[in-house]
Amino acid sequence: MNSLLEKYEVVIGLETHIELKTETKIFCSCSTAYGAAPNTQCCPVCTGMPGALPVLNRKAVEYAVKAGMLLHCQTALVSQMDRKNYFYPDLPKAYQISQYGLPLCRDGWVEIETETGKKRIRVQRVHLEEDAGKLLHREGETLVDCNRCGVPLIEIVTEPDFRSGQEAAAYLQKLREMIRFAGLSDCKMNEGSLRCDVNLSVRKKGEARLGVRTELKNLNSFQFVAKAARYEARRQMELLEQGGAVVQETRRFDEASGKTLPMRRKETLADYRFFPEPDLPPVLVSQEEWERWRRELPETAEERRARYGREYGLPPESAAALTAAPELAAWFEQAAAGTRFPRLAANLAAGEVLRLLPSPEESVPFSPDRLAVLADLLGEGAVNSSTAKALVGMLWRQDQDPRALVEELGLGQLRDRESLLPLARQALREQPKAASDYRAGKKAALQALAGQLMRKTRGRADPALAKALLQELLDSPEEEEA
Ligand code: ADP
Ligand code: MG
Ligand code: ZN
Repeated sequence: MNSLLEKYEVVIGLETHIELKTETKIFCSCSTAYGAAPNTQCCPVCTGMPGALPVLNRKAVEYAVKAGMLLHCQTALVSQMDRKNYFYPDLPKAYQISQYGLPLCRDGWVEIETETGKKRIRVQRVHLEEDAGKLLHREGETLVDCNRCGVPLIEIVTEPDFRSGQEAAAYLQKLREMIRFAGLSDCKMNEGSLRCDVNLSVRKKGEARLGVRTELKNLNSFQFVAKAARYEARRQMELLEQGGAVVQETRRFDEASGKTLPMRRKETLADYRFFPEPDLPPVLVSQEEWERWRRELPETAEERRARYGREYGLPPESAAALTAAPELAAWFEQAAAGTRFPRLAANLAAGEVLRLLPSPEESVPFSPDRLAVLADLLGEGAVNSSTAKALVGMLWRQDQDPRALVEELGLGQLRDRESLLPLARQALREQPKAASDYRAGKKAALQALAGQLMRKTRGRADPALAKALLQELLDSPEEEEA
C-alpha cells in the first residue's frame, strides 16, 4: 500500500445532501417531522398525483441561500427549478424537481485543517431539490414510505479537491457544524438528514488528467467515509497496477466487510432528460431579502469558541467541548448570561456539567438558570468549589433551586474563624504524626491536615481559611504545648 501511495494520488469530490429544517415540505404543507408512522405525512402534491401543483416554500429558499452564504458562495438572484426524470419506486412522481443549469448558489469554498495546514476546498454549487421517499425491504416484499417525499434538500457539490478520505471527513465535520449552528438542519447521519456520496479516482503522481472515478454511496458516518475511501483507493490502484481499468460505476460500502461493492452502472446525463420545471416560475431573491438573510445568520461555532476564550477565559479544549452541539452552547450561554460570575459558570459548565453529560447531543437535565444561581453562590463565597461541584450532581438528579438546597442541607461555606478554630485544633490532635512532620520541616504534611479539617466540616470549610488557620496553629509555640 505504501509504495502504491508513493506512486499514485487519490482524488475525491463530494456530493452532500442535507435536509433543511423547515416545518413543511418544499412544495406542499405536509410536515417534515422525522419518525412518523409510514405514509401519514403525504398529500397529492408530494406523492405526484396527476393535476396536483407544487408551490415553492420560501423558507427552503431562505435556508438554501443561508447555507450558500456560509460556504462563501455567490447567490443567483434568479435561478431555475428543473425536472430530473428517473424511474425508481421511492419516487412516485417518476421525476424529481431539482436545479440543473441555474443553481441557487455557486463558486464558494470551505477551509479545512489538514495534516499539512489549512486548505481551501472549492464548492462548485449548492442547489435546492426535493427528497425522495424511503423503501423498506422486508422478507419477500418491499414497502414504500412517502413521508420523506418532498422534504427540502440542498445538494452541495465540491470540486475534486480532496486528496484523502481524512480531508473529506474533516470537510464534512466542518460543514455539519456550520449548518447546525445556523439552525438550517440537524445533520443527523443516522436519520438521513445528512448523506454523502464520495466520488473517487486515482492517478499517477504528476499526471494532469483525472482518472476514471467511482461513486460510493450509503456512507452512514464520517468514519465510514474515511474507511470506504481508503479501501476504494487501494482497490483502484491495485487494479491499475495489474493493467486493468476502473469502470465508472456506483458502488456501495459494506460496513461488515469494510469493502466497496458494485451497485449499478452510473446513470448518464442523458438518462435524466433535464428540462425546466413547467409547473414553477423562476426562483427570485431580492437584494433586500439577501441582505436580511445575511444579517440573520447567527455567530458560527468558530466565532463562539474564540469569544469563550476572550470573555470567559476558557482554554481552547473547553471552548471546543461546549460548542460540540448548538443546543449545548445555547444552554451554556443562557447560564453565563444569568450570573454575575460568568467565568465561574463557564468553569462549572466545562468541568462538572460536561463530565456528567454522556454525549454533547444529550440535554442537560436541569435549567441553565440553576447553573447561573450556582455560579452566583460560588462567586459570593456562599459555597466553596467542591460544594458547587456536588450541587451540580444534585441538580442532575433533581432540577431544584440551588439556594434552597444549600439552606436545607446546611451546605453553606464555613468562613468564620470562631467556628473553624476548634475544629482545626481537633484535626491537629487527630493527626499527630502529620503535625509533627510539619513542625519538623515537611511542609507538605499540611495537605493531610487540611484534608482532615475538610472532612470534619463535610467539605464546607473555606479551603484557604482552613489552611491559614492550621498553619497559624502549627507555627504558634503555645499551641504546641496544648
Ligand atoms: P455527477 O453529477 O454525474 O455525479 P459531476 O461531474 O457533477 O458528476 O461530479 C460530481 C462530483 O464528482 C463532484 O464533487 C466532482 O468534484 C467529483 N468528480 C468529478 N470527476 C471526478 C474524478 N475524476 N475523480 C474524483 N472526483 C470527481
Ligand atoms: Mg453524482
Ligand atoms: Zn404533501
